[in-house]
Amino acid sequence: MKDYVLNPYDLEAAKRLEDFLPHRLFDAHMHISHNKNTGGGHTTLKDYFLDTAPLYCGRPVRCNAIVHPGRFLAEPAEMEKSLSFLAAQMEENPGCVAEVQVLPEDTAEDVAKRLIHPAFRGLKCYHVFARRSDTFNASVEEYLPEGAWEVADQRGLVITLHLVKDGALADPDNRNYVKEKAKQYPNAKLILAHAARSFASWTVFDTVDELKDLENVWFDFSGICESPSLQYVLKTCGVSRCMWGTDYPISLLAGKAISLADRFYWIGERDLKNFVSKTDLRSWHVATEGLYALRQACILQDLSSRDIEDLFYNNAARLWQ
Ligand SMILES: [Zn+2]
Repeated sequence: MKDYVLNPYDLEAAKRLEDFLPHRLFDAHMHISHNKNTGGGHTTLKDYFLDTAPLYCGRPVRCNAIVHPGRFLAEPAEMEKSLSFLAAQMEENPGCVAEVQVLPEDTAEDVAKRLIHPAFRGLKCYHVFARRSDTFNASVEEYLPEGAWEVADQRGLVITLHLVKDGALADPDNRNYVKEKAKQYPNAKLILAHAARSFASWTVFDTVDELKDLENVWFDFSGICESPSLQYVLKTCGVSRCMWGTDYPISLLAGKAISLADRFYWIGERDLKNFVSKTDLRSWHVATEGLYALRQACILQDLSSRDIEDLFYNNAARLWQ
């Protein structure tokens, strides 16, 4: 057992989610890794199923398993290990799909060579590979190579994109990039991770409207712990391109991400220890916070039980059919 498993308050909360969660789940954004130096450590799909089963009260879960995008993958030997590990995980877990890492200098040929298993159905890019020290300010071109788009378009693959820069989707360069590439490569499917990284809720308000007619732009809701941005994306773009996700093993950290001024902050274990309150103070893990935020967004949007099944399973199953 890891030291960040769910606490009794999470488990109490899980009981209250019983009537909300559909009978089967498809996690559109979770991570596994062969490398123990990832923060989350060496994690497998089996770890995920064991760690999260209490929260989902034993429901069956399919996953889009994204390789943990650590800097170590820039080493060719580590990249090779990650591919063998992912392939073995796919063999052990039929019904799941995986995303392999792409690097900024990759050609289409480099990307295609990594697709060594039929369940490798997506590509992951990440800002930490951008050639600059302040990678949180990187433009998407600095960490998502054109070759990835070409391969995704040829093969109908998914690309999971975690936007950076303080404005996320409110940054005009990020937004214009998404619009331009989605139109240029219509057979590729772009998932804007973390509801277009709207940890600062305001960043999707009025901006995601520009993406509503781009049918190949999708959203995973992983890691978002407040309902406003989830509701706004659902309201503006519709349920059909939105998917629940957890960002496991991040989902098993205590605390939550909150909007703070025009930025965001992750309340973590250290903060929780220093909080002082006159009333009983409790905390959940990110997984529980995310489910409650999504539940609230669904209620506020008057979603039907069919819509909720689509969010938690059918949309992802259709995307990766
Ligand atoms: Zn992630």
